[in-house]
Amino acid sequence: MKIFLSSDMAGTAGVVDWEQCRPGQTDYELYRGLLRDEVNAAIDGVVTAAGGEPEILVNDSHGRMANLRPERLHGDASYLSGRHKPFYMMQGLDDSFDGVFFVSYHGSMSGTPATLSHTYNPLAIAEVRLNGAVTGESGINALVALGHGVPVLLITGDQTTAAELRPFCPDARAAVVKKSISRFAAESLHPHRACALIERTAREAVEALAAGAIGLPAIALPATLSVRMRNPDIAEMACWLERVEPDAEDATVVHLRDSDPIRLYRTFITLVLLTRGIAE
Ligand SMILES: [Zn+2]
Repeated sequence: MKIFLSSDMAGTAGVVDWEQCRPGQTDYELYRGLLRDEVNAAIDGVVTAAGGEPEILVNDSHGRMANLRPERLHGDASYLSGRHKPFYMMQGLDDSFDGVFFVSYHGSMSGTPATLSHTYNPLAIAEVRLNGAVTGESGINALVALGHGVPVLLITGDQTTAAELRPFCPDARAAVVKKSISRFAAESLHPHRACALIERTAREAVEALAAGAIGLPAIALPATLSVRMRNPDIAEMACWLERVEPDAEDATVVHLRDSDPIRLYRTFITLVLLTRGIAE
């Protein structure tokens, strides 16, 4: 059993503020510990379900992408950390993996208020749709899983995060560890209960995979990512890229269309990195 685990931070039980997720801030050490416990709970679920010695790769995907401590990871997991990764939140995934976990993910800014909601860069991006349906980072990242033929097994975070993944990965199991009240408030499970829920759900997800009950992401190809940028300047800049077209009516919207889901994801990442130049 070989599992790819992409960890964000905003979806951890108890986390409700950016300050809790920023290195150097008073509470960061506490909350990175809670994130680590959730990552380890997911790994424990794999170990219990799969037996033997599963191979786990943890790709740190939040902020400067060095929030965990390698020596504290369970399951002798490998740790992919640091910045400027060409495949960003999905760096390290390839065809050899059996499943993908999204741990401590968060919702987008569309729909119900979600704690710390954003999609890659909140200063540049207001909303993303995948084949017409609103998507968070999870649905966008599922493109890479689809491209490699690897199913998404698990997502953890608040209730909006779980709901957002469902249209794209209907078989993925969700561990909902908090209920978002607003962008900066949530009712969280106690960390002990959150970890127990994540461990149990991860175990069930691996068992469901073994039973043949989890399919590949259900994303029709060619796929279209429609991105509403924060303003027309950013949208215009996005159109400098190949395979990015302006919307016919809305000057803030651009469309990325591709039959290759991995190339589509790369175009999106290039858009994120390019527009940082004028969005920050
Ligand atoms: Zn994120």
